[in-house]
Amino acid sequence: MAQKPDLYEMLGVPRDASQEQIRKAYLKLAHKYHPDKTGGDKEAEEKLKQINAAYDILKTPEKRTQYDRFGSTDAQGGFGGGGFGGGGFGGGGQGFEAPFEDFFDMLFGQGGKRGAGGAKAGNDLELRLGITLEEAAFGAKKKIRYNRRENCGDCSGTGAAPGSKAESCSQCQGVGQVRVAHGFFSVTRTCPQCQGEGKIISKPCRTCAGKGQTKNARELSVDVPPGVDSGSRLRVTGEGEAGHAGGRRGDLYIFIDIAEHPFFERDGTTIVCEVPITFSQAALGAVIRVPTLEGEAELKIPAGSQTDTQLRLRSMGMPDLRGYRQGDQIVRVIVETPVKLSRKQKDLLKEFDDQADPKTYPNRTKFEADAEKGHS
Ligand SMILES: [Zn+2]
Ligand SMILES: [Zn+2]
Repeated sequence: MAQKPDLYEMLGVPRDASQEQIRKAYLKLAHKYHPDKTGGDKEAEEKLKQINAAYDILKTPEKRTQYDRFGSTDAQGGFGGGGFGGGGFGGGGQGFEAPFEDFFDMLFGQGGKRGAGGAKAGNDLELRLGITLEEAAFGAKKKIRYNRRENCGDCSGTGAAPGSKAESCSQCQGVGQVRVAHGFFSVTRTCPQCQGEGKIISKPCRTCAGKGQTKNARELSVDVPPGVDSGSRLRVTGEGEAGHAGGRRGDLYIFIDIAEHPFFERDGTTIVCEVPITFSQAALGAVIRVPTLEGEAELKIPAGSQTDTQLRLRSMGMPDLRGYRQGDQIVRVIVETPVKLSRKQKDLLKEFDDQADPKTYPNRTKFEADAEKGHS
């Protein structure tokens, strides 16, 4: 089966690229494949036509929305069956415009999902994919397994036992619809004898019980792009269930689910991490090592840091899904009060407090003064 082209892939941009990103990617490619550059190379010329057609759709927000929603249609007259996937895309001046009409047809129900002879698009499938925060940050290749309906291999999807044939329905002559007289008018109805299939199976295939399809396990390797978040949806076109009687395949939608991390919390592209520091590190200042998504990093704690002081590690957070920028990591320091002190440690702390003056603990000093005023 011809592979459906992905317009975003063609331009080398992510699915949620901004219009500006799309425009830039297009200009770059248009420049690269320009006949002046390629010396009239036939393949490059073809490629340029495809890029132009893809850009023509993605540059127009309404067309882009429809493309996102419906993807490329194949089978009857769509990309795969028509001039597109077969290599003739753009050839002979027909190209993309005609197949794109199919989107509008689908939208306004003219083409419909059900064509003559019972052709019906396969169902879309949805599944959840659990990944780690690190995988979300750097992207990952994940193997997924799921069940989907396939055309039965024993009867090639016809539903008729091997060696036998589905017969054209006698009542509707294989059209799937019959005309019924209704006063002065005649009305078209789904054929009652074949239920619109246009065919009658007298000897059903045993493997699929005449349904023409069986449920099979499918294994697929998917690329999870860097920057996805829980709830992000990836669409894998043409990996849903098989269509009926020549209808196009459905799509597969993968919903991302990121597992909770033991010490990183994510807020958009920002990674927040709480780090306990010692009492003397907080008072004296220190350089400590903190975990980041990319491994350990050094962080300078300024002298006099309090609990909840937020320190920033630039560009150590999550990447933006659009590839614009890298977020930061915020380290929130928590001053840990020492416990289980030895005799010696207690003496040292007492001695330390004996040395303290009002400026050592400004908050404490202010609070005491305010409390005093409130009393008098
Ligand atoms: Zn079968
Ligand atoms: Zn019929």
